[in-house]
Amino acid sequence: MSRQLHARRLEKVQKNVWVEFTELAAKYKVVNLGQGFPDFSPPSFLLESLCNTVNGGFSMHQYTRCFGHPSLVKILAKFFGRILAREIDPMQEILVSVGAYGSLFCAFQALVDEGDEVIIVEPFFDCYESMTLMAGGKPVYVPLKPQKGNGPALSSADWVLCPEELASKFTSRTKAIIINNPNNPLGKVYRREELQIIADLCIKHDVICFSDEVYEWLTYDGAKHIKIASLPGMWERTITVSSAGKTFSATGIKVGWAIGPGHLLKHLQTIHQNSLYHCPTLNQEAVAVAFEREYEMFGREESYFKQLPTQLQAKQLRLTECLRFVGLQPILPEGGYFMITDISSLKVDLDDSSSKDEPYDYRFVKWLIKEKHLGAIPVSAFYSSESRAGIQNYIRFCFAKDDSTLKAAEDILKHWKVQQ
Ligand code: PMP
Ligand code: GLN
Repeated sequence: MSRQLHARRLEKVQKNVWVEFTELAAKYKVVNLGQGFPDFSPPSFLLESLCNTVNGGFSMHQYTRCFGHPSLVKILAKFFGRILAREIDPMQEILVSVGAYGSLFCAFQALVDEGDEVIIVEPFFDCYESMTLMAGGKPVYVPLKPQKGNGPALSSADWVLCPEELASKFTSRTKAIIINNPNNPLGKVYRREELQIIADLCIKHDVICFSDEVYEWLTYDGAKHIKIASLPGMWERTITVSSAGKTFSATGIKVGWAIGPGHLLKHLQTIHQNSLYHCPTLNQEAVAVAFEREYEMFGREESYFKQLPTQLQAKQLRLTECLRFVGLQPILPEGGYFMITDISSLKVDLDDSSSKDEPYDYRFVKWLIKEKHLGAIPVSAFYSSESRAGIQNYIRFCFAKDDSTLKAAEDILKHWKVQQ
């Protein structure tokens, strides 16, 4: 057959880091600090609500409302309405979709038109670039850079946007900016002043903000997560995306949502009703019950949103100590599941014959997987092809793992250190 089979918009989006490294991790049976998923159990109240939902009658196994199961959108509106200090209309201002991925996909398809520019903050969760391209848009990148002046950057807080550089990216063609707060892979949590600079530019240039907040409950050492939608003038131009996967340590549950003003949200609903239609009823009901619990517990010691960051911070410290012990300097994250570390001090004889054109961090992680059976993710995967060459010495570890997994990773790293 001589005719071209694929749609041209797929030409720039062929490779996917998760597919590639998840396959490798499985093949080499690694201790997996690569892909971001917890290998410990979700909270028992979520498991209970899942069981109850399975046995909750026929309607739990049938279609539900297209834009979100009624009990879920109602509690999401109540929960996030309290946080944003505004009334949220559960029917018009919330869309539940298949994970944060589904919600982001609907947002890009609905609001980014052919030729529109979308500003993407580097490093970025990789799908923002592909989703921009699949919508016919043009990604425009702006980097978070380590602040110069006071020694090496040791915390994600040291990585900042240059306000002038950011401002220079806004043009009459800019339709949207996407931020990820807390950021994957860096762990940066934006301070209010930083969000204000972004907000001022969005308002000045009449630009929409997509704010991916899937790690919103996971902040460390007093870092405070602030929703950009809560800044004056931002609600009407922000789509906030989050997900039950990260909220309740159950990435397989695939329930995510977009929250925003009706005049934007209705377009996401149009995409959703004609593509995914709805997200599994069972999972939505179970997540609704879990959110009801968290609504009652909010701010209390029993709240999972309070307990989980405490647990994860201990894991983060544990991995930090181990990486320092083997001579690495991790960048301490203020939030999220991940920590990145510079690997340039590790002298490794990579077998370069097969993949010379790949970035160094890709080759390094492949070597780590094959030779040391330790999974990680190359950080250049979170950069545009233009920026990739300048960022080849970092890899990302996920610390949202069971202590036994972290111990196994420590054993590998320490044993390696002894051998060197
Ligand atoms: N955004 C970010 C920043 C992520 O790390 C992930 C992966 N969890 C997603 C979105 C996708 O989330 P979900 O699994 O809910 O689709
Ligand atoms: N969000 C996850 C991570 O950053 C992975 C997403 C995926 O596997 N597609 O590790």
